[in-house]
Amino acid sequence: MSRPVRVRFAPSPTGPLHIGGVRTALYNYLLARQLGGTMILRIEDTDQNRFVPGAEDYIRESLEWVGITLDESPWAGGPHAPYRQSERKPMYRQYADQLIAGGYAYYAFDTPEELDVMRERLQAAKVPNPQYNSITRAQMRNSLTLPEDETQALLAQDTPYVIRLKVPRKEEVRFQDMIRGWVVVHSSAIDDKVLMKSDGMPTYHLANIVDDHLMDISHVIRGEEWLPSAPLHVLLYRYLGWEKTMPQFAHLPLLLKPDGTGKLSKRDGDRLGFPVFPLEWRGQDAETGEPTLSRGYREDGYLPDALVNFLAFLGWNPGTAQEIFSMPELIQAFSMDRVSKSPAKFDQAKVRWFNEHYLRAKPAAELAPFLLAALAEHGITCSEAKAEQIVAVMKERVSFPQDFWQEAKYFFEAPTSYDEQVVAKKWTPEVSTALAALADALPDEAEPSANAEVIRAIFNQTMEAQSLKPGQALQALRVAATGAGAGPDLFETLAILGTGEVGQRLHAAVERLG
Ligand code: GLU
Repeated sequence: MSRPVRVRFAPSPTGPLHIGGVRTALYNYLLARQLGGTMILRIEDTDQNRFVPGAEDYIRESLEWVGITLDESPWAGGPHAPYRQSERKPMYRQYADQLIAGGYAYYAFDTPEELDVMRERLQAAKVPNPQYNSITRAQMRNSLTLPEDETQALLAQDTPYVIRLKVPRKEEVRFQDMIRGWVVVHSSAIDDKVLMKSDGMPTYHLANIVDDHLMDISHVIRGEEWLPSAPLHVLLYRYLGWEKTMPQFAHLPLLLKPDGTGKLSKRDGDRLGFPVFPLEWRGQDAETGEPTLSRGYREDGYLPDALVNFLAFLGWNPGTAQEIFSMPELIQAFSMDRVSKSPAKFDQAKVRWFNEHYLRAKPAAELAPFLLAALAEHGITCSEAKAEQIVAVMKERVSFPQDFWQEAKYFFEAPTSYDEQVVAKKWTPEVSTALAALADALPDEAEPSANAEVIRAIFNQTMEAQSLKPGQALQALRVAATGAGAGPDLFETLAILGTGEVGQRLHAAVERLG
């Protein structure tokens, strides 16, 4: 019988969610929805020192914004509540005890000073990576080296201790990764990780395994940075007697900086000029305590569909030439077999390209509010209908909704300067006379009513009467009416401006340009 698909996204609330985290959440979500499974969010907050207020709300808001819905979560609840590890604290101890009873874990009483001495000693002996492991544990103060009665006495005296995993000295740990195939690691490369800290909090490793087991997780899909922890997790499943129901692992490829020189880090966004966070984040500089502001895709004008489509392709491809996928299409097309092992380079031009695509596909009614908001900021009133007309002609020419205002300014403000190149090339005395005649020929109406075709016909007739070919005056007409040398369909533009306004602008241009 195949197992119900239950996947989880398990962020730690240590700061804003990185877009790599959004990609991890997305792949989990796509698999869950495709297979009719359950999408779970678990907050992994066992490391209280790294807890950042607001990070959990940020994670929630980010997922909502990109359209990743959750079936079980700290805020929606679910059959395995609570979904915050700090609230599950009492559940973990029994499993650490079970490991000790089975001989798979032990108490370690070493003080921080003793640990430092051990590291220094190993460093002096040129051991490249000093660790508490199957070799060094024999020289440390733990329940493996101390006599049983001494261990009991230390415990009875409440001596601070941690519980460590007893990693075997010579064993191959192997597991099958859905993306990487068989992964084989020698146990000598794994250290005796702390499972339970002296304050009674489990570490990430123990809590993660216990929760994935109790929550009946079928697939663990997470970033490549967790690959080195996976063999340790496999040992934990084995020692806890849960190997048969161990989830399938899939470690997603790394996200690299645009030039491929290394992992895309949280700091790269501000340095390289693009956001690495889904939403803006107001934080604090770790050293100076100064308030910091990191850019977000949402505030930078990216549409959530564009970001989702882009992130889906950072590590996956459909095997066809199709690039545009809505969320429902991704759910259909996604497959773990087509997730790549090799790292994916972040491509700023590509995410912009996706944004332009989704912007153009949006109906004008959904885009008009962006323009109306900018107009309101500048104290300009405009009807919704007119804003819709403007964004409809402008959307082919912008990458972000906030560009509408810059690009569309001339619909609201008559030009005071004119594109010099066009003027130099196209503004002749004949053209000037013809445009003055056109200004007189256009109906002097206060409210636009003539459509683009009517205006085009008047223009053509006027040019004919002036013995000019329409092409000789088109660019001059644009520059006189808008100031710009290029723009959307000219007669649509004039229709939106209205013939009365166009007439005035033509007269003004003739006066100024001669
Ligand atoms: N809490 C870990 C993180 O912050 C989760 C790793 C995992 O998915 O096992 O990414």
